[in-house]
Amino acid sequence: MAESQTSDSRKLLVNLRETLAAASEGQERLDRITSLIAESLGVEVCSIYLFRDTETLELCATEGLNPEAVHQTRLRVGEGLVGRVARSGRVVNTEDAPSARGFRYMPETGEEIYSSFMGVPIQRLGEKLGVLVIQSKDPRTFSADEIYGIEVVAMVLAEMTELGAFIGEGEAMGALHQRPVTFKGSIGQEGAAEGHVWLHEPRVVVTNPVADDPEAELKRLNDAVDTLRVSVDEMLENAQTTDKEQMQVLEAYRMFANSKGWMRRMAEDISRGLSAEAAVEKEQSAARARMSQVPDPYLRERLHDLDDLSNRLLRILTGQGKDTGAEMPENPILIATNIGPGELLEYGRGLKGIVLEEGSVASHAAIVARAFAIPLIIQAGHIATEALNGDHILVDGEAGVVHLRPEDTIITAFRDKMAMEAKQQERYRSLRDKPAMGLCGTEVKLHMNAGLMADLPSLESSGAYGVGLFRTELQFLTVDRVPRRGDLAATYARVMDAAKGKRVTFRTLDIGSDKVLPYMNPLDEPNPALGWRAIRVGLDKPGVMRMQLQALIRAAAGRCLTVMFPFIAQLDEFRDAREMLLAEIERERALGHILPEKVEIGAMLETPSMVFAPQQFFEMADFISIGGNDLKQFFYAADRENERVRRRYDTLNVSFLNLIEEIVTRCDAARTPLSFCGEDAGRPLEAVCFAALGMRHLSMRPASIGPVKSLIRRTNIEDLRELIDETRLSGEQSVRQTVKAWLVENAT
Ligand code: PEP
Ligand code: MG
Repeated sequence: MAESQTSDSRKLLVNLRETLAAASEGQERLDRITSLIAESLGVEVCSIYLFRDTETLELCATEGLNPEAVHQTRLRVGEGLVGRVARSGRVVNTEDAPSARGFRYMPETGEEIYSSFMGVPIQRLGEKLGVLVIQSKDPRTFSADEIYGIEVVAMVLAEMTELGAFIGEGEAMGALHQRPVTFKGSIGQEGAAEGHVWLHEPRVVVTNPVADDPEAELKRLNDAVDTLRVSVDEMLENAQTTDKEQMQVLEAYRMFANSKGWMRRMAEDISRGLSAEAAVEKEQSAARARMSQVPDPYLRERLHDLDDLSNRLLRILTGQGKDTGAEMPENPILIATNIGPGELLEYGRGLKGIVLEEGSVASHAAIVARAFAIPLIIQAGHIATEALNGDHILVDGEAGVVHLRPEDTIITAFRDKMAMEAKQQERYRSLRDKPAMGLCGTEVKLHMNAGLMADLPSLESSGAYGVGLFRTELQFLTVDRVPRRGDLAATYARVMDAAKGKRVTFRTLDIGSDKVLPYMNPLDEPNPALGWRAIRVGLDKPGVMRMQLQALIRAAAGRCLTVMFPFIAQLDEFRDAREMLLAEIERERALGHILPEKVEIGAMLETPSMVFAPQQFFEMADFISIGGNDLKQFFYAADRENERVRRRYDTLNVSFLNLIEEIVTRCDAARTPLSFCGEDAGRPLEAVCFAALGMRHLSMRPASIGPVKSLIRRTNIEDLRELIDETRLSGEQSVRQTVKAWLVENAT
């Protein structure tokens, strides 16, 4: 790289910074920037196109093109050469633009006389903001060095756009991270919340993209990289893994931290006038752009590593990030790309709402959110990139909509809706002590699902009949080692105390799949949901399950103990688990402990295989509970975590209802009580259909009890059964629409 070019581009950046720092309106600043760049590069045209919305670019400033076209000329992404740069995120550099692929003539700009064209994307960390274009009459291609210089300028522009530097008062174009944005996601937990953004992993904001002293910046970068390397080495030492593949991944991570190419590129960026953090971010942006285009998953993972390292480096350089000591705002609404159940538990109930870019309704983080009754929206676009800590935010968990930085009209409408919902809740509360009895006299017992001691007060407030499912994983997920038997026994005893004689059904540890204990070596299974999980782990490595069973027996002392085993897929598994519990009771007896007064041992029916199990299974079980979340995913071969496939298959499809009916028939024949404890039990429409098919126990989160009870009480369950039977014969795939229409007419 020629020294003169380096100093030229540094000079340009310094001028740019001065222009940006000058007190002027956004438009004036943009105009100055374009003329500055054109002059410095000796070209006739420099233009800035910015995204107006996700699909449209607008010419926002130009030196050289017709000034009348500013804010008039718009292009769709992919349209013309500018649109091509925007779509691909790559540079287009040609000496003969009119013959280049995709060229589109825009008469209003007067650009037909320009032969050469260079366009570079203005982007920040994979977020596309616009395109910077250079044109000249002479047919010339721009050198790699010139492109590089312009990319650095584009990087600074991206940072400035980021800071809202282009926004003048009254301008039509809203600043990024300032304008109101609405996100449509899926509902993970209903409810409404108003509050302020709290980012799980706050983005680092670079406030000084241009630096005067490259040597000082280089030293800052080198120091930060040294710190980073030490922390990566420590991480490797602490990893304590013998898994070869995992070691290789960690080594690759270390290799990146020591990569000369990475360092060289950042040093070069600095010599061009960027600050150390802007240089890190420039390379990170480039890596992200590559990431979206690399088909090989292994390479993509490595680019991910680089992304992660860049984040760490930025945090070191800026002192911002996770542990900034920033104070959580009032009424915090957590925003994250995704989050695990353990991390969510650490935040606790203080959160008013949660919004995730990824996530799934059936994930265990969602289950924790539900246990806390915190409204949760998943699959909410790029909200983690758009939101800033402290932003005002409204979460509408009924519509699955999030309003970020909402306008006043939206706020008023939202508050009205919240008030209406509060009234509805009041109506549900009035049903608390009434039975869930249909108009025909059919009664369904509504139980609640729980997973934390803190859930137990809901038993009384919701009017639940008992706890139909107590998930015991959460006590294992929140600590960094296997919990002690004594601690577990104390917790279980407190749960039973709080239930005041109502039945609590404890489900033994259901780990594996998405619930990985922090102190367990993660298994690299091709299909974790079909892998070594739940009862399979419990039977193969019985130490933990035995300990848990002992804790349950001791907690019950003198009371009724109700235990069920998850994920039973064949008769022997239930038999073995049951025998293990009976053996532990004998052992406790021998040790002289007080035994439970009565023991009920049940099985969760979560795999289609058990619908067709030998009759002995139904006879041996004291009760059976359908784990509909898992049963449905295996029945339809559709991952419960995968939003793309999950919603294709309706619970009210005739085939799934036939399956449920078969379970009801088999349990009735063996006189074995049956319940349903998957999420569908808490959906009113599904719940009345299950009741019509003969289910008499449903277990759901406490907040669902009111709505489900309300619908059951307004429905003639026997008539509904007839309707479902007729619809099943009609050849329709799902009974949903028919039942819905019938309920509108008939639910009084
Ligand atoms: C189920 O699968 O329906 C269930 C209740 O268990 P979990 O959601 O914990 O897997
Ligand atoms: Mg399950």
